[in-house]
Amino acid sequence: MTNKLHISTFKDQRDSIMKNDMVNKLQDVQQFGEFGGVNPSISDSSTYTFMKAKTMYDTFEGNTEGCYLYSRHTTPTNLNLAEALAALESTEMANVYASGMGAISSVLLQLCKAGDHIVSSRTIYGGTYALMKNFLNKFNINTSFVDTTQIDMVEDAISENTKMIYCEAVSNPLLEVSDIKALAKIAKKHNIPLVVDNTFSPLSISPAELGASIVIHSLTKFINGTSDGVAGVVCGTTEFCTSLKDVNFGAAMLLGSTLDGLRSSSILKNMRTLHLRIKKHSENALYLAQKFEKNGIHVSYPGLKSHAGHETYNNQMNMEYGYGGLLTLNVHTLENANNLMELMQEHKVGYLAVSLGFYKTLFSAPGTSTSSEIPLDEQKSMGLSEGLIRISIGLDNDIEKTYESIHNCMKELNLLPEKIIAV
Ligand SMILES: *Cc1c(COP(=O)(O)O)cnc(C)c1O
Repeated sequence: MTNKLHISTFKDQRDSIMKNDMVNKLQDVQQFGEFGGVNPSISDSSTYTFMKAKTMYDTFEGNTEGCYLYSRHTTPTNLNLAEALAALESTEMANVYASGMGAISSVLLQLCKAGDHIVSSRTIYGGTYALMKNFLNKFNINTSFVDTTQIDMVEDAISENTKMIYCEAVSNPLLEVSDIKALAKIAKKHNIPLVVDNTFSPLSISPAELGASIVIHSLTKFINGTSDGVAGVVCGTTEFCTSLKDVNFGAAMLLGSTLDGLRSSSILKNMRTLHLRIKKHSENALYLAQKFEKNGIHVSYPGLKSHAGHETYNNQMNMEYGYGGLLTLNVHTLENANNLMELMQEHKVGYLAVSLGFYKTLFSAPGTSTSSEIPLDEQKSMGLSEGLIRISIGLDNDIEKTYESIHNCMKELNLLPEKIIAV
């Protein structure tokens, strides 16, 4: 019925051609199993044999193509997944990790040494915030947290020692939208990389196409999509990705956040339906956001004109994948939020759980969960209210029924604005 994507601004032809290229590239990735299987074989070994001792030496020095040494460095299975992810993000190369935080910590530590500085968005994933604020400062790597939607503030925060600009394409949990082109321009001017965490908006936004140097994902979320494993990726140039794996100086190799082959092959298989899932997540989230807004409920979703980042999102999105599967509802108090989430779980709307990108709807109150690392006063100053519920909308086939269920839960708890109670 009405739950089709309504996009208010249509982008030009050139962008849509570019977007198709990206998805075609992903679908053109051709990987065969050892015996001609349609799925690549899983490499189930930690170490690899050599026929000649000299080849082992050359492999250690990084001089032998197609030879594997030890699985913390590289495995055929992880290379397959990385190839698909590099195609997804239009980068030369990618490295996969045992978690999103493994990917993030590896990038930050590869680019920074003691005395260096990071300019980061202040609305980022709680774990990344804690890593920068509480952990890296032990090594005298300091971070300025700024409102990256204010481009001037970003530039003002850059100093001689700044080694990167860091942001999320769509931020967790406030769904702030970064103007990646504008940030990339400043980064380029100062000769530093723009690092973008694109976990919330795979396919919808392609940061590397917009000028980002390094793109990170927690694969745990939409890209895997089955909430059965934890993994991460760094997408970038061949030079940067290779440097991460250097046996003497590479953060990936030396910190050792290595993804297991079985999980890696499972994520690769799930990636084949990513385009279908993202379209459905976006379609369902837009439907709910529009209904909530019409009924006077405090909803935030980048696909709504009322969202501060709507125009920015329009200017950089791959249209057919929509505005993503995340929205937030503000029910003003923590008590309201907790009551509503418990009732929604009872009414089978979804699960009261952190994380996102699952086929079921997942909801949590970020102030007391995934963003609890951020001190209360800072939460307040960035607009993170304790009554905020972050909802990752699932792949529900009947989203109208879902809307009615949520509506009924709100009604039961007296959370609906006056005018709808009357209806
Ligand atoms: C979950 C998440 C991470 C961390 O990823 P893990 O796989 O849990 O280590 C980083 N960034 C964002 C935006 C996330 O949502």
